[in-house]
Amino acid sequence: MAEDVINSLTVYTVLTQLLQEVQSILSKLLAVQPVTNIAYQQDSKCVNGVGGPVPIPNEFITNGQTSDLLILITARPSASVATTANCYKDRNSNRPISAHVNLDPNFFFKMSSYTDQIGTLLHEITHALGFSSEFYDGFISANTVFKTMKSFTDASGVATSKTINFLKTPRLISALQTHFGCNVTVPGAELEEGGSPGTAGSHFEKRIFYGELMTGSKATGVSFSVSSLTLSFLEDTGWYQANYTYIVPGSTPLLWGKNTGCNLIFNRCEDWNVGGSLSESYFCTDRTRTRCTFNLLSKGFCQLRTYDTNLGYYEHISTNPNIGGIDSLMDYCPYMNPVSFSGCRGSGSGEPFEVYGGNSACWDSNLVTSRALKSVDARCLEYACDANTTTLRVRVGNTWLDCPQNQSFLNITTGFEPGYNGYIACPTNGYNILCDRTLRVPLAPTTPFTTTQLPTSQGTTRAPRTPSTASTKYTYTIVLIALVMHALL
Ligand SMILES: [Zn+2]
Repeated sequence: MAEDVINSLTVYTVLTQLLQEVQSILSKLLAVQPVTNIAYQQDSKCVNGVGGPVPIPNEFITNGQTSDLLILITARPSASVATTANCYKDRNSNRPISAHVNLDPNFFFKMSSYTDQIGTLLHEITHALGFSSEFYDGFISANTVFKTMKSFTDASGVATSKTINFLKTPRLISALQTHFGCNVTVPGAELEEGGSPGTAGSHFEKRIFYGELMTGSKATGVSFSVSSLTLSFLEDTGWYQANYTYIVPGSTPLLWGKNTGCNLIFNRCEDWNVGGSLSESYFCTDRTRTRCTFNLLSKGFCQLRTYDTNLGYYEHISTNPNIGGIDSLMDYCPYMNPVSFSGCRGSGSGEPFEVYGGNSACWDSNLVTSRALKSVDARCLEYACDANTTTLRVRVGNTWLDCPQNQSFLNITTGFEPGYNGYIACPTNGYNILCDRTLRVPLAPTTPFTTTQLPTSQGTTRAPRTPSTASTKYTYTIVLIALVMHALL
């Protein structure tokens, strides 16, 4: 359609800026073991991507490839925002060395947020780096996937089952246990079983890893998280070393499920029971009330849909088997969706004493300043963090109150201006969620591959790199070369 057409100059300009930023991010985030003799045959092409073959440009055939990863970019109309197809792997290490990324011009270039575009590109390039089912068998450390059947009997008595895959590489398992605070043996990081063939198996399960960079679709109302899960997985390929302390601009810490124990890993969402009895952040059944979202930054609403048939394996509300959440990649688990992107830090309405702005967070509460008590829903109120005593505080009127970590209720009845009545629920782990913005818990600074020498490549087409001082094996020199082949208009 005419209104969907964007010209190739726009594509080129946007891409140049985005790719410079993405290249800068990756060069700080990952070190790679260089391959020293990337040479392509004449007429080499990437053939598996959207819209047919893309030739490797002649300069890389004649002169060799001096970058660690060659990304060929097209802007062809397609069914999804962005798609990545692997092209060539290094014949010794199996490491991917080139890929074709297609960015749909009708979706990608019209994304409202620069951060979303960066997140999408990082997601696609992470597929190209090895996060894709086609690579799992080729890692330096093999035996990476655990498969199991999960069964469920729905309210009508019908049993259904699904095959579920888990990535069980060692550092990823360690990162997983650390993130959730789950210290028992785990099968691995569950992979997405839903979505298209390109989605299933090549993403983290969104129900468990909501917000993580490598889930199959973006989380609502939160920016992407480049978590220790993705970084440790990339290290487990044996091809990269990650810098856990580098914070990607625009990213947010992974908070979904953080320190909630083993429930999200092992249980169905209706049995998660996290966040205490008051919170419905992670699993909700009542669309009539607002409650706080999991990151405590926004009022949320329980988004439910009534389906024509019962949801079978994805049935979560046994009393209403046709009702479930709206997102198939969340396995139809209903949870609190933010009412607006900016949440309590933006603007909104509510009780007269509520405070919106950069210092505000969401509190489940029935607090009122009128005499008529109300049922519990969400309130935006200012908060503060005391790092010395690791205490979360909330301001009511002119009074700052300490909020314990264990979801106790603060009764607001005496010592306040006349009219205040009700309570505020202090969220479980509230201090950790709102105050501890540590991006990742770094793993021990070793990799299981330090003693493994890759076979040395024969033949040379380019000079070897100068090793970095930090490591003689890996260098922080991921170089991406972007080529806009053409925008189909
Ligand atoms: Zn993807």
